[in-house]
Amino acid sequence: MRSQLLRGSTVRILIAEDDGALSEALRFTLTQAGYAVDHVGHGLAADEALKGEGFGLLILDLGLPKLDGLEVLRRLRKRNTTLPVLILSGREEPEEKVAGLDLGADDYLVKPFSLSELQARVRALLRRSAGVATPTLQYGELSFDTVGRVASVAGKPLPLSLHEAGVLEVLLNRFGRVVSKEQLVEQLYNYDKEVSHNAIEVYIHRVRKKLTGAGVEVRTHYGRGYVIDHVG
Ligand code: CA
Repeated sequence: MRSQLLRGSTVRILIAEDDGALSEALRFTLTQAGYAVDHVGHGLAADEALKGEGFGLLILDLGLPKLDGLEVLRRLRKRNTTLPVLILSGREEPEEKVAGLDLGADDYLVKPFSLSELQARVRALLRRSAGVATPTLQYGELSFDTVGRVASVAGKPLPLSLHEAGVLEVLLNRFGRVVSKEQLVEQLYNYDKEVSHNAIEVYIHRVRKKLTGAGVEVRTHYGRGYVIDHVG
């Protein structure tokens, strides 16, 4: 029961890469950075996955089995999507790079690359694409940047752990409506497979304390869940 709303609340990245070790490294790095990561190992699976909704970024290897990365990109762009695409390639031929960029890739990394460079490129692409949508949620004195996953109250940074930011984001995406504990657990599953119902209570407690003075508050609806709403 993974709803559209929940899927939209964390940036989801699709990795299309057939190299197992590299895929694992990418998945680990990006998950640690707070993204929700899906992985496919060949071009046809990538094409299929991209027909669905919900991805905020595609990391695309050019040399993919079953369907070449360039063809995956060509099909994606035919469907008129503006999804940011970062190409990975072991091919250093300039014409491959040009072909990828001509087909609508947004950036290009030649293997081998450092994971920190990849992360920087990902952040830059997401920042750029966020300029199109509005990535900041604003309620009362609280604002929450859904790309950087950082919050501030009256312009002052609000320090949040990864889990607290996740909880707050899910609540804000359903502002004024009840979110069940189950929905929170499901959302946090993206970066913590072990999160329990008790842990959710702890995160809610901390977030509630941190929101003091923000003009919004987290209320408990016993037996149903939590809601974030304006104070009063
Ligand atoms: Ca490959």
